[in-house]
Amino acid sequence: MIDYRLKLLSPQRHIFEVELTIQNPDPDGQVVYLPAWIRGSYLIRDYARHIVSIEANANGQQLTLNKLDKQSWQIESVKQPLTINYQVYAWELTVRSAHFDNTHAYFNGPALFLAVRGQELMPCRLEVVAPQFKPQKEWWVAFSMKPEKIDDRGFGTYQADDYETLIDHPGEIGDYTESRFEVAGCNHRFVVSGVKRFDHEKLSLHLSQICEKQVEMFGELPVQDYLFLLRVVDDGYGGLEHKNSTSLIFPRDDLPAKHDHKITSGYRRLLALCSHEYFHLWNVKRITPKVFLEKNTQQEVYTRQLWVFEGITSYYDELMLVRSGVISKQDYFEMLAETVTRVMRGSGRLKQTLEESSFDVWTKFYKQDENAPNAIVSYYAKGALFALLLDLTIRLQSNGRSSLDQVMREMWLRYGKQGKGVPENGIETIVAEVTSLDLQSLFDLGLRSTDELPLTECLSAFGVEMKLLPAKSFDDRGGVIRDKEREQKSYTGIGAKWTNKNGGIKVQQVFDDGAAQRAGISAGDEIVAVDGLRMTAKQFENYIVDTDAGDDIEVHLFRRDQLMSLLMQPQLAAFDTCYFDLTEPSDEAVKQRLSDWLMGNG
Ligand code: ZN
Repeated sequence: MIDYRLKLLSPQRHIFEVELTIQNPDPDGQVVYLPAWIRGSYLIRDYARHIVSIEANANGQQLTLNKLDKQSWQIESVKQPLTINYQVYAWELTVRSAHFDNTHAYFNGPALFLAVRGQELMPCRLEVVAPQFKPQKEWWVAFSMKPEKIDDRGFGTYQADDYETLIDHPGEIGDYTESRFEVAGCNHRFVVSGVKRFDHEKLSLHLSQICEKQVEMFGELPVQDYLFLLRVVDDGYGGLEHKNSTSLIFPRDDLPAKHDHKITSGYRRLLALCSHEYFHLWNVKRITPKVFLEKNTQQEVYTRQLWVFEGITSYYDELMLVRSGVISKQDYFEMLAETVTRVMRGSGRLKQTLEESSFDVWTKFYKQDENAPNAIVSYYAKGALFALLLDLTIRLQSNGRSSLDQVMREMWLRYGKQGKGVPENGIETIVAEVTSLDLQSLFDLGLRSTDELPLTECLSAFGVEMKLLPAKSFDDRGGVIRDKEREQKSYTGIGAKWTNKNGGIKVQQVFDDGAAQRAGISAGDEIVAVDGLRMTAKQFENYIVDTDAGDDIEVHLFRRDQLMSLLMQPQLAAFDTCYFDLTEPSDEAVKQRLSDWLMGNG
């Protein structure tokens, strides 16, 4: 047994203290280390940089620690049990790190718990020690790890089968609010911190419906209980999946208000995020790439199949909202239109394939700079569209006998449930076996080429007409056609993104071949005037909409400290904004196909 004690040392200094006791240290000098990254988030984070002090003792004697590299230490050789005490600075409020002050303490295992080399498969015990200071309100522990001996508020000891399990349970300690609901007879907790008042009941009801649909699709729920940990903030978005829980961060104002029966687009986004992380409980936490099971998190691990784990999950997270009846068909297609639009607006989709996007995740998707839209494609967004194409193609070619649902069930039975990793291209084999269809050319097109996905043709067979139109305004993200007279000319073609900063307009991104790039505008430029007039971003946008494509506009800008004047000719807006026409199909077979897909039959 490896013993960890977690102490809330100093909220003012944001310092956790960990005491690690190793009963049988390596007689040649025990090595301990922290992970470089956290599973589910593919960026080297070097957690060890936040360890501010560390010491080791055995039998009252201080031992020498020899630092081996950025994240590992070797302790002087001893034959008796040894204890390591170390302090960790925690002041990063994201779902991948740790954060501690006088309002709460939040942590992820990789940020706090040193691994004991050679004993990673040993069971671990974690004691969460109650704070020695007095918080303003009573603190509780929200934690999904198996309790061993805890008090009413959750302080005490917990158990994990091994080190990987130990670090897969994020914890929140504070005065959060909690609601409970059941899914498939199992207890689910929804814990919210940083809170305002909102409609707990509505959220619990909707989530239970969404989760039930997912259990129905996979055929079983492989956990006894599940914990949603939500931190609400004024501005922020993120989620990270774990085997028995998820950590989420989301804007406060998008939580469902009491007595408001509408499902706002913000609340819909929250439901989709929860749905996404819950789907991961199967897809990626248990159905997982073989290479993830073989390698630890000390350095990068490469796979070409992140589209399976993030793309397919992104496809189902929204689909489950409509399948459970929580949102309408119209709402679903609005979300889908936004995904298509997002992909169509980046010319990076013509340069990077889905498999490349996955493989290069460490240096590209997770290290995006201003050129990202021109250089890369998202394995989430394009992955979701490919999953849609795959599902619809299977349904169509098999005459409704097969579906992606069936493929995912088989992925669960063959890999996830058995604890076996999915080999590269594993899903292609399963698709061929489950459906008896030859979809090799579809996989080659979608995963290994940058050709456009034939979504329009495919959706049309389901009675859904997809159109690509010019954006009607700068914030047009696509949607569902509600009026028929909308194909007006549009002059928003400038090909750049900006923010209004300190009264000036700061260019964030410049798209390849857009009017801004042709004029010589670059990311980072600060536009101070247009045709001699000072403008806000909104005024600038209106000004461009009122200008005919091809007319000259003089743009005055600062690049660093240098004032420049450039001529720009706005273009006609590109046909990059997705709209769906949902006119009820007259053909009965088409109607049935659409309903089977949206309702999850097959
Ligand atoms: Zn995900």
